[in-house]
Amino acid sequence: MIDEVYPNIFRGEIPLPQNPLKAINSYVIKGDGRFLMIDTGMNRPECLQAMEAYIKEVGVDLKRTDFFITHLHADHLGLVSELAQSSSKIYFNYPDAEVINDPNHWQEMAETARLNGFPESDIQAAISRHPGKRYHARRPLDLTLLREGAKIEIGGYSFTCIETPGHTRGHLCLYEPNKKILFSGDHILESITPNISLWSEGDNPLKNYLQSLDKVSTYDVAQVLPGHRERFSHHRRRVEELKEHHEIRNDEVLSILKRGKQTAYKVASLMSWDIDCESWEAFPLPQQWFAGGEAFAHLQYLQGLGRVKRELQNGKALFSLKE
Ligand SMILES: [Zn+2]
Repeated sequence: MIDEVYPNIFRGEIPLPQNPLKAINSYVIKGDGRFLMIDTGMNRPECLQAMEAYIKEVGVDLKRTDFFITHLHADHLGLVSELAQSSSKIYFNYPDAEVINDPNHWQEMAETARLNGFPESDIQAAISRHPGKRYHARRPLDLTLLREGAKIEIGGYSFTCIETPGHTRGHLCLYEPNKKILFSGDHILESITPNISLWSEGDNPLKNYLQSLDKVSTYDVAQVLPGHRERFSHHRRRVEELKEHHEIRNDEVLSILKRGKQTAYKVASLMSWDIDCESWEAFPLPQQWFAGGEAFAHLQYLQGLGRVKRELQNGKALFSLKE
């Protein structure tokens, strides 16, 4: 499915098989002799096939195409390795580039999972099945790294980078001040809540995310063009809804901790999840993994606020309410 959402700005839906996100929006901006593609799809045949049909229909010449990737997740970045040519620039951000170039990344993730109570038997299986491992770029990428305020001009549009850490450490949005368009990546989505997960001890992604929500709220936006699902116009209302969602989740985590000290994994198993499964045990492993990361992000955030404390016992982190 392809539509022209603004003059010279196209949206193509790239399917994500067996993934609750269903599809990713890949945008193409047609300029004078050059193209810019925003986000791509996973590096798997189903995505490549849909992408080939999309670029053919829009008339994209990959030799004259640059890429802007909002963040490191495989559904946004993975396919770029099959599309980018030696003449292409791949715009990306510093913090996420550090993660993808870190050879210890998966090991650090495994250690965080272990510390937070994931069963040992699940850890290697969850990592080997992780979409970030299976469907990622298959070669090193020559990235052009951007920071807050960097500009990209194309097709009569002038885009500015906005750093919006939270969903990932370095997530970037692109804003066009004349038409008031916001390419939001996975920072704000309309009908789904972006996953905020913690997989590295020192981070506080939920704190960053809430600050980044407030940040985009200050921009004047006529239309949000998100990484998934439909475009929408009421971005301030959506920001408020997302903030409220996280407040409710924080309250839920606090009420679970009233039962006594426990690991993040246990907390995740007791939280309510919008998934069609009878019990926590019936969750597919990748969904348990994402749920665990979310619970951990909430616990870290609440610890930062001084409402929760953490102690180590036999190599496991246990969380409890701070009196
Ligand atoms: Zn993402």
